[in-house]
Order: sequence, then C-alpha cells, then structure tokens
Amino acid sequence: MPIDLPPGHFFLPGPTEVHRDVLSAQVRPMIGHRGRAIQDLLASLQGGLKQVFITEQPVIVSTSSATGLMEAAVRNGVAGGRVLSLVNGAFSARFSEIAMACGHETEVWAVDWGGFHDPADLDERLARGGFDAVTITHSETSTGALQDLAAIAEVVRRHEGVMLLVDSVTGVAGTEVRTDDWGLDFVLTGSQKALALPPGLSFAVASSAMLDRSAQATDKGYYFDLVPLVKALENFQTPSTPAISLLYALEKQLERVLAEGIEQRWARHAAMQTATLDWVDDMRASGVDVGVFAPPGHRSPTVTCITLPEGVSGPSVVGAMRERGWVIGGGYSRLKETTVRIGHMGDHGLDNLGQLLDSLGEVLR
Ligand SMILES: *Cc1c(COP(=O)(O)O)cnc(C)c1O
Repeated sequence: MPIDLPPGHFFLPGPTEVHRDVLSAQVRPMIGHRGRAIQDLLASLQGGLKQVFITEQPVIVSTSSATGLMEAAVRNGVAGGRVLSLVNGAFSARFSEIAMACGHETEVWAVDWGGFHDPADLDERLARGGFDAVTITHSETSTGALQDLAAIAEVVRRHEGVMLLVDSVTGVAGTEVRTDDWGLDFVLTGSQKALALPPGLSFAVASSAMLDRSAQATDKGYYFDLVPLVKALENFQTPSTPAISLLYALEKQLERVLAEGIEQRWARHAAMQTATLDWVDDMRASGVDVGVFAPPGHRSPTVTCITLPEGVSGPSVVGAMRERGWVIGGGYSRLKETTVRIGHMGDHGLDNLGQLLDSLGEVLR
C-alpha cells in the first residue's frame, strides 16, 4: 500500500497524522540519558505537559505505548482491595482485563458498547465498599462514546480511598480534561492520538493519594513503579533510558500545541466533531441512512463512529476511501462490518475534514 498521502488525508483514530516539522525534529544527534542536556530537555517538556494536563503536578513521561500506563494504573492504584471496571467498549474492556491479569479482584460493570455510565449508579456501587480503584475510559475510541468524566470524578471523590484511574488516551489534548480541578488520581494518554506525535511515548499524572497508594502496593513490578518514576522526575531524570528521539518530537509538538493554546485546541476538536455530526444529519436528510453510534450528549470530540446503511460493509467503505486518497478507521472488532470511524483529532482542521466528508458522501451515495 502506498504511504505517500498528501498532508491532511490520514484520519485514523490513532496513530494520527504527524506534522512534518515534528517528524523532522527527531533527526538530531543523541545526548546521554544522564547529565545536564537531558535534564534541561525534560525540564522544558514539563512546562508544556503541565499545561496540556492542566496540573501543577509532575507529568510522567513513559517510554511505552499507553497500554503500559494502563498497567501502571492498576499495579500502583490497588493495594489489596477490589477494582471496579467501567466497561462500555474495547479499550475499557482492556482496562478490566489488565486489572485481572495483574491479579486484582475485579468487578466488571459493563453497559452496552457505545453506552456510558451513570454517576448516581456509580455512587451506589461504591457505597457497598471494598473498592481500591475505579477504571474508566474517558473517550472510548472503539465506539466514539464520551463519559462525563467531571461528574464521575465528583462521585469518586466522595469515597475515601478509592482511586479514579482514567484512560484518557483520546481525551487529553482533544477535549476538556482538568486533572487537578477534577481530582483525577491517575490520568494517562498516549503520544499517537490527540497529541499527534509518533507512537511510543505515553504520559500520566498521579495524585499524591495515588503515590501514597503506590507506596503500599505490593507486586507492582519494576518498570512501572510510580514511586521511582516520580522521584526521578523531581530532578528531571528518568529511571531508565527514555526514547530520546521521541522527546525531540515532543519538544517541537508542545511548542505548536502551546502556540495554539490548549483550550483553543479543544475548541478546534469540538468544531470538527460538529462538522461531522452535521454531515451525518445532511446525509440522512438526503436519504442516506447513516447514523452516529454513540448517543447524543455522550459523543467524543475526537472520534466519531458512523453506522452505515443496511447492506453497506465497513471494509468496502474504508477501501473506497483509500482509493480516493483518504485513510479513515474501520469499525472496531464486532463493529467492523457495520461502522467506520473518523479520527478528527490531532492537528487536523475543518478544511481537510470537509473534503474528507465530501468524499465519504460520494462513496455512500
Ligand atoms: C489507542 C488507545 C489505547 C491503547 O493505546 P496504545 O498506545 O496502543 O497502547 C487505550 N485506550 C484508548 C481509549 C485508546 O484510544
């Protein structure tokens, strides 16, 4: 498959398109992973990352994909109690599987794919006691559903000792996330989604309660132990060798993100979502039976999962778009035949998205 698409045509819901300047920032000589140069680099990255997460706390930079930090979340956030896993799609299901694979007793609270969890119901469940942590996926990339993270966090804060562990891989840098204000105990993202970086890095913030919990947790392994990770960060160091080339890319991309402004970045994503939802309405009005998988009010600003008319297969739509020079996401696992996904996230704008939707309209008509 040719990979030489022009810029602005790659709309996968991760990895996302990476700007040329960010790609080329990686082509710089190595520096040692101990010493002044790397400390200066890590220190300067902290400033930008804190603005992305809206936090005063250090932002952990992990050389792993986001799944690594999902594992870190449950390894450090649980010390003998149970995990309540909120499941509404593939990535939230993965979070529950990770909790179980790490040996934690896990209660899976599953709603339909595409659905969301009611904060009042969560309050009742937590009131039964015995939980150390709640896992949640903020923006379910498999379905395009968005959980009301602020409301969920408010409920979890009422339950002493319960850590809220948040996969916001397609949330952070694409939609509102206020780490400190909302009292998130652990919130993580990956480099290759709304941050529009190459894959290979992930980022998280741990609350002080989370670090206290981590100090009590046993069997948390070595690589993802938050205590040494955060301790090293105090001196702008990392316990093991970081992906230095990716840090160069991050440095460049943070400059670009901050030049735009984080709230403006959220607004741009919201505008792309609106354009996509309006397009669905227009298509329906013209007799093409497309729809949006996630319910109104709970739709992610970074990814839309579009249901296809009866008899139109997802892979054939993805293929037809590819022939027209556009890459969109297929439906995820059980949704593969009946849906496609548009990752309107990262550095994309309304111009190219509009052209993509025109093309998709032609394919579907
Ligand atoms: C992509 C994604 C992940 C997994 O990220 P990796 O970087 O592939 O490990 C987890 N959760 C969500 C919501 C995602 O979109």
